[in-house]
Amino acid sequence: MQLNESYLIYGMGKSGIATARAISQARGTAYIGDDASLSDTALENGVIFNIHQDPFPKNIKALITAPGMPYTHPKPHLIYELARQNNVPIMCDIEFFFNIYGSNNHARFIAITGTNGKSTVTALTTHLLNHAGHYAIAGGNIGRAMFDCPPPDKPTIYVLEISSYQADLCKNFAPDAVCFLNLTPDHLDRHGNMHGYFEAKKRLFLHLPHKGKAYVSGQEDGLDEWSKKIFDFIHQHNANIFLSPQQQNDIKALIKDNPYLAGHHNFLNALTSCAMVKSLNCVDFSGLKNYVGLPHRAEFIRKIDGITFINDSKATNADATKPALHAYKNIYWLAGGVAKEEGIMPLMNNDTMHVKHAFFYGEAGERFLKTAQSADLPCSVHDTLKDAFQHALSQAKNDESHEKTILLSPSCASFDAFKNFEHRGNFFKELVEAIEVTLKK
Ligand code: ADP
Repeated sequence: MQLNESYLIYGMGKSGIATARAISQARGTAYIGDDASLSDTALENGVIFNIHQDPFPKNIKALITAPGMPYTHPKPHLIYELARQNNVPIMCDIEFFFNIYGSNNHARFIAITGTNGKSTVTALTTHLLNHAGHYAIAGGNIGRAMFDCPPPDKPTIYVLEISSYQADLCKNFAPDAVCFLNLTPDHLDRHGNMHGYFEAKKRLFLHLPHKGKAYVSGQEDGLDEWSKKIFDFIHQHNANIFLSPQQQNDIKALIKDNPYLAGHHNFLNALTSCAMVKSLNCVDFSGLKNYVGLPHRAEFIRKIDGITFINDSKATNADATKPALHAYKNIYWLAGGVAKEEGIMPLMNNDTMHVKHAFFYGEAGERFLKTAQSADLPCSVHDTLKDAFQHALSQAKNDESHEKTILLSPSCASFDAFKNFEHRGNFFKELVEAIEVTLKK
């Protein structure tokens, strides 16, 4: 690409650096700024703009911001006010990439959005397409910045996980296919309320009257109030993707023996991914059989002596834990860390019927114990995840049932004891590895 124009990139994380680099390589000028000081890598790719000292640069074609910059709530970041005063269009890197490559015949775009399951559906859709012989790349919120994806020099399908923060900054982005997974309260501090959160996600569907196909997860059986609104909108514009009953049965059969796609939520994720694949006229779903899940999302670690170990460390709130509690039998559940406001209360009505015993730990331990006791759930409290794990293991070993599961699904943030959810999940995996060592002795 050739740009020869000036852009302002504000927020120099991974995506900001990739965007600035692409602009500089295309002979454009990237002005770069951040509330924090700029890293050396950032400085290599642009001209510094200090928001508190420098005048707003002249002839800026667009402001491209990182998802971290509050757009509307709690209050707009100063950079947006400056852009508006200077009549500069505002966008995220996905919109900018689309503005450059959207009309390229080689490029197809699939957008994945929703509260839970985005990364799974993005990874699964990408896998299915590649397995069927296409060239697909997962990008966006899943961890690969848009401008770290290669340009469409050959037929390329960009499968993009889009967060509500990114969707808020998309206006022209018109994907070939888009799906809506679900919507439960999240990020309300940044969107004001559920309506604001919904409106951000809905932006991805606004081009359907002119371009694109869409699918709402769960459209075959029942939809929540927000999903229904999206479904009605899609229907009104005749843009639905449907899976035939035969295709749904085939999908169910294909995932049956794949431990990485256990549980009803993963059946819904599989349907959604297949709908995305189908929208590009491909009906080869055979990759469902050998999909290997993403780390830390109900990740199957291994099965030892009838005990299956599942690492669901990414589940940092009750909503995210819920599907895992339904996906397995005879569960020894490990939960704890730094609790969210609602704690595990939302799970106490109908979601713990497969839990044989809950082992709580960390900062939330005592609070979770009280909640679970009030719901008559067998439970105990332990100092650390390691202690909780050891107790869970000895109880599971004494359980005569054929199938047992030790599930780490913390319903909590991790920072009382770990750097992040990945660190916590890897620690759990090490505990599981250590058992194998003991058994081999
Ligand atoms: P996201 O990228 O939206 O955070 P992930 O695929 O990383 O979603 O999964 C996050 C958590 O949500 C995991 O604990 C996972 O088990 C759970 N989850 C996955 N798919 C769904 C779904 N369709 N509905 C509800 N929860 C889900």
